[in-house]
Amino acid sequence: MKNSKKALKIDYLKDMDLGNFRSYTEAVCNSNSNDLYRIRKRARELFQFIKMADPFIQKHTEAVCAVCTGVCCMNKHAYYEHEDIIYILSLGLETPVFGNSGVDSDPCQFMGSHGCTVSRPLRPYRCTWFFCTPLLASMHNDSAVVYRKFIGSLEEMTRKRKDMLNAFIELVQKNKQPT
Ligand code: SF4
Ligand code: SF4
Repeated sequence: MKNSKKALKIDYLKDMDLGNFRSYTEAVCNSNSNDLYRIRKRARELFQFIKMADPFIQKHTEAVCAVCTGVCCMNKHAYYEHEDIIYILSLGLETPVFGNSGVDSDPCQFMGSHGCTVSRPLRPYRCTWFFCTPLLASMHNDSAVVYRKFIGSLEEMTRKRKDMLNAFIELVQKNKQPT
């Protein structure tokens, strides 16, 4: 029963368009509720995990993506999901601002001459954790110890992100929706 109520609530939240959801999340994050503690703790942990994983990911993207002929970064991949917004706003940070130009299938507007211009912890989750087959193969061929540690941190991050989302859902269920 508890789970179905939780699912219902997140469906309701996800039905909001992302602009409304951002305003809603801002209001929640500015509410000074004690229940924000768990959300922020998980978000900080996620941030640290991504920073720690960055050198390993960077090492392999530098080698593999630099020679890729079918770069996967398109505008449509750079949109933030609800969980990304909770994560970034609860840290008191901001997502980069999208320009109006370009269509979804155009090269991503955040792509610079040396790769993505958004710092890794602030990218949409799907950007950080998308590994195409050649990239994954390159990582897999690295030291077995480093690779295992990396996969372990991926799993841990997924758990943290899920718990952050659950904490957010529990908070909004407990409190009235901000106006
Ligand atoms: S992740 Fe894979 S598909 Fe995307 S740019 Fe790198 S090598 Fe190319
Ligand atoms: S990794 Fe950066 S450049 Fe690539 S789609 Fe994501 S935001 Fe855009």
